[in-house]
Amino acid sequence: MKRIILFGAPGSGKGTQADKIEKEFSYRKISTGDLIRAEVYKKSVIGKKIEEFSSKGLLVPNEIIIEMVKNKVLSDDIKEGYILDGFPRTLDQVKGLSVVPAEEEVAVFLRVDEDVIVKRILSRVSCENCGKIFNTIFRIPAKVNICDQCGTTLTKRNDDTEDIIKKRIIIYRAETLPVINYYRGKGNLRELDANRDINTVWEEIRELVK
Ligand SMILES: [Zn+2]
Repeated sequence: MKRIILFGAPGSGKGTQADKIEKEFSYRKISTGDLIRAEVYKKSVIGKKIEEFSSKGLLVPNEIIIEMVKNKVLSDDIKEGYILDGFPRTLDQVKGLSVVPAEEEVAVFLRVDEDVIVKRILSRVSCENCGKIFNTIFRIPAKVNICDQCGTTLTKRNDDTEDIIKKRIIIYRAETLPVINYYRGKGNLRELDANRDINTVWEEIRELVK
């Protein structure tokens, strides 16, 4: 079982690369957000616990998230390996991951400059109907400004302003730096220059994770 961990600020192309890895290899992507939604929807024991926390305005505790990730990894869906995108975020979560099976681990950090992030996020457009995200630079819809998936007119998110993007980058860096440093110290962090175009970065990621 192989564990691939992707790090990168919003706008680093991390989500796109995770999708490409999933498509090319038999590794499955694990999204903690999706796991949470699925448990709540199923009204499982974990789902009910999660609802208790969120109804009080509290974050879902680490132990619950780790338990969900572990159950997913042990399920039939996942055989050769898995990709974590946006997780772990804290050193506590890193510690928790030690109970989740993985014989091999690769952490990839997509390093991007702030001006590139701002430019990429400002060119983002999304579909209000189905939620699909496009980009007028590198994820261009087939028809100008129309969602490929459902035909709705695409719109810009109004919270994507330069100031807000810069604040999100600062928060991301402060939050993730200790985790990235941990993997660097462990010796299995691979850093890539993700200022380059998505396909160039992908060629390198494909070699790193195979
Ligand atoms: Zn759509």
